[in-house]
Formats: sequence, structure tokens, C-alpha cells
Amino acid sequence: MQREYQKPRVGISACLLGERVRYDGGHKRDAWLVDGLGRDVEWVPVCPEVEAGFGTPREPISLVRGAGNAIRLVAVDTRRDVTEPMQRFIDRRLEELAAERLSGYVLKAGSPSCGLDDVLIHDDDGEGNPETAETAKNAGSGLFADALLARFPDLPIEDERRLADPERRRQFVERVFAYHRHISATRSFESACGHAGGRRREGAERTRGISEWGWGPTRK
Ligand code: SF4
Repeated sequence: MQREYQKPRVGISACLLGERVRYDGGHKRDAWLVDGLGRDVEWVPVCPEVEAGFGTPREPISLVRGAGNAIRLVAVDTRRDVTEPMQRFIDRRLEELAAERLSGYVLKAGSPSCGLDDVLIHDDDGEGNPETAETAKNAGSGLFADALLARFPDLPIEDERRLADPERRRQFVERVFAYHRHISATRSFESACGHAGGRRREGAERTRGISEWGWGPTRK
């Protein structure tokens, strides 16, 4: 019996699909992702800030480097620290995403939650006040993106800004489909084995195989 083809499942920052989840009630719909790549993959949309319970519209937040170099997520006007609720969301959601068998992820550039590596990290002025973006000295990953990269080190992950480059876009698509073929083959093997021992063994082999074949994300 022929197995039905399943499109790769790819995680994505929900605002890139046109969902009105941004702090100001808007979106950041990306035409190529929606109308191009979207024809060939099944999106798994995630908005960390909405799913963490921050609501829409909401006060904008930013990354702030505080005591002991710890990076905190802080509301821009009220300076409310929302790191803890975001961390609780991240811990729960990453476990759910592990069960989704994703083949890739597209993040929203520049977001303090979703940004891949270009998010301004503001310095605390010593009294708990974040300095302005103009004086921010560092850039890093948003809190959700950082945890995603750590939890799925081999998953092809990009942001929409980098995917504007045709060569990087081509490489990303290739990696997503290669990853998908690999996990599909693994699933068939698991099905044929039909026992937990086989799944555990194959899981370990899958992780090793992906690393060896260099399917990790293209990072700067
Ligand atoms: Fe939500 Fe991330 Fe988009 Fe911000 S960048 S609106 S947290 S999906």
C-alpha cells in the first residue's frame, strides 16, 4: 500500500502569515512565505507573546541586560518584567513542538521574542531603566528563538529578513526538504519496527545522522 505524502511541517512566527498578533494589533505578512513556500509546506504558527498571555494589543517589550548579565524581557513603558511568564510558555511550547516533528522554522527578525540573532539588547542604566536603542551595545536572539535554537540544534531555522536573499532561500528550502525526507524515512522504519526499543534506538541514530550530514541551521 502506498503511503500518503505529507508536506513538511514548518514552524513560523504567526505574524509572518498575516495573523494580527503584533503588539499594535498589526501583522508582518510575508508574501513569499505565504504564497510561495506556503504551497509546499504545512505551517505550524506560533506567537510566543500572545500564547504567553500578553494579549493584543499590548505594550511593546524589549530585551534588557540586567544584574549578572542576565537577559530579561521588560515592558518598554511600565518596565514590568515579563521574563517568567515567557519562560513558562517556552518550556511548555517547546515540548509540544517536539511532538510536531517539524522540518524547519521561520522566525520574525528583530523581535525580542522571535528574533534569530539581530535583537537589540539594551543596557540597564543601573536603576532598572532600559537605555534607548541608539545606545544599545549588543544584539542577540529573542528569548523564544534562543530556546528554540538550543532545543533543536539541527533544525533548519531562518528568519524572513535573511530569506529575502535568493541563495539563502534556496539553501533553506533544500535543507527543509532533506530534513523532511529523513524524518519521514525514520517514521517508516519506526512503524515497521513497531516497538519502543526500536524507536529509542532509531531516535538516537536519527540525531547522530542529522548532525553528520550537516543539516543544522545556517547562522552568521
Ligand atoms: Fe508574535 Fe513573534 Fe510575531 Fe512578535 S514576532 S508578533 S511574538 S509571532
